[in-house]
Amino acid sequence: MAMEKRDVVIVGGGLAGLTTAKYLAEEGVDFVLLEEHTKFFQKPCGEGILPSYIDFDFFDLYGSKKGVEREINEVVFIIKDKALTVPIHFFMIDKEEVEKEMAHQVEKLGGEIRMGEKVQKIKDNVVYPQEISARIIVGADGARSLVRKSMGIKSPKIGVAIEGHIDHMEGFDENKAYIWFGKSITVEGYAWAFPRKEFWNVGIGSAKTEGFSTYANRFKSRFEMKDVRGAAIPFSLPVKTYGKNFLLVGDAASQVMTAVGAGNLPSMVCGKLAAETISRCLKSGSINLHLYENAWKKHLKKLFRQSYMIYRMASFLSYREENRAYRWVKLLMKMFAGSPKESDIKST
Ligand SMILES: Cc1cc2nc3c(=O)[nH]c(=O)nc-3n(C[C@H](O)[C@H](O)[C@H](O)COP(=O)(O)OP(=O)(O)OC[C@H]3O[C@@H](n4cnc5c(N)ncnc54)[C@H](O)[C@@H]3O)c2cc1C
Repeated sequence: MAMEKRDVVIVGGGLAGLTTAKYLAEEGVDFVLLEEHTKFFQKPCGEGILPSYIDFDFFDLYGSKKGVEREINEVVFIIKDKALTVPIHFFMIDKEEVEKEMAHQVEKLGGEIRMGEKVQKIKDNVVYPQEISARIIVGADGARSLVRKSMGIKSPKIGVAIEGHIDHMEGFDENKAYIWFGKSITVEGYAWAFPRKEFWNVGIGSAKTEGFSTYANRFKSRFEMKDVRGAAIPFSLPVKTYGKNFLLVGDAASQVMTAVGAGNLPSMVCGKLAAETISRCLKSGSINLHLYENAWKKHLKKLFRQSYMIYRMASFLSYREENRAYRWVKLLMKMFAGSPKESDIKST
């Protein structure tokens, strides 16, 4: 039997892969997206998404309001017994619903998605066991990307997180998001509680995998968390995101705002930019995928760098005595997020 030949194979059906697929489908590019699971969103996520960054707007990229549950306007940072409330604007989404809706849009535009298709090997631009040969392979396969590894790109630093659900959080305002910081919580990371419509997403993550289980177990014992799942998070600046015949998008490329582990909006922005580059290359007949790296750097390099700098400072502070860490975090907030309101945790 002749081998299947496609212009593009996208590996991974998270926000990065689905956004790439959507914009390729809009351009009429031939592709197939392969997702290893039979259902979308099999990985934990706080499910917060920033509304926009420079020229990129979440609702423009998404093209729908389905699954958007809440608007958050304030984040409360808790350090020991003190709280800093900061004006930060984002949306809470039902990410499974959002990914399903994006897949629906892709298919409506004529794009092809195959679920339950795990790519296990890539050699000479053929993905196995599917045996599909592609002119371009898009690695949108998350933090532990097989595409990245197959293409010989060094892995970013990988941290770890766990997250579960809590039905009700006594004394917590469901119009706000909460972040716990300081060495009594964890080092090189933080814990969070983000309000979905019917429950809270509560979790803890760290760039330091060694000893993390002690912090995670201590945090878990404070709450009765259900459906607890673990996941990897990249904690580096983006890696090299292209080669002769491949691109990396989203967590696979470490396109994450490391200070807060936020990769949802960056994955969508980079997915769009990847699709635009691919479409232009295929139409011109000249495959120059470095144009993709130029494109995301033009728009997002500053954001990734600034966020990485804050993450490094916060990591350093996470080992310090907590009253001292509090004073520094307050200063960082003033510089990057707006004037914080101070209170003790009982009056947040
Ligand atoms: C606990 C936690 C909380 C987070 N909270 C937030 C938050 O609140 N806000 C925010 O902006 N970001 C958050 N993030 C980060 C965010 O989830 C990621 O940055 C985002 O999901 C990246 O999207 P992606 O499509 O690149 O990767 P993923 O969402 O990981 O998708 C990758 C897809 O590829 C598939 N796949 C992997 N390997 C293969 C293979 N070999 N073959 C076929 N398919 C494959 C996977 O099944 C998956 O569907 C959080 C991360 C974690 C771990």
